[in-house]
Amino acid sequence: MDLKPYIKIVPDWPKPGIKFKDITPLMDNGEAFRYATDQIVEYAKERKIDLIVGPEARGFIVGCPVAYALGVGFAPVRKEGKLPRETVKVTYGKEYGDDVLTIHKDAVKPGQRVLITDDLLATGGTIEATIKLVEQLGGVVAGIAFLVELSYLDGRSKLDGYDVLTLIPYE
Ligand code: IMP
Repeated sequence: MDLKPYIKIVPDWPKPGIKFKDITPLMDNGEAFRYATDQIVEYAKERKIDLIVGPEARGFIVGCPVAYALGVGFAPVRKEGKLPRETVKVTYGKEYGDDVLTIHKDAVKPGQRVLITDDLLATGGTIEATIKLVEQLGGVVAGIAFLVELSYLDGRSKLDGYDVLTLIPYE
């Protein structure tokens, strides 16, 4: 199934010059969303995943149905101040200043094989920070899955040595 028609390109949003990839048409189409989820489930099965971890908010939408299908858990990565119990955190650079991502300290058990999910790989900063959080807790990043990859932003260079699945690449 060709998933590209389900991604809508929104010019000049959220700022002039940006061609935003809107994945909501894929998610609100049952057939396309199930197909995309099934691809990630197959990928995860081959890698014997114990746990899914995804950054807010669209990493949840991609990761939770995969966790359900596999019968494994899902652990959220959130902005600072959102998780109620003890967390570990990573600060990472964004276009306009730094941002902080956190995860509950007991969310990942040492040695667990983790699949990280997000909707889109752009510069790779978000996913690099998520990898650091998982590894700080002793998890093994056994795979990383995205719906969309903006190859021209070269986020892959931050993911050297990791096993990455992308369903819809843009050159
Ligand atoms: P990165 O950290 O630069 O790789 O940016 C990836 C994060 O920003 C992901 O969590 C995406 O949800 C979000 N993002 C960046 N660009 C887009 C886009 O064009 N469409 C949807 N989400 C985007």
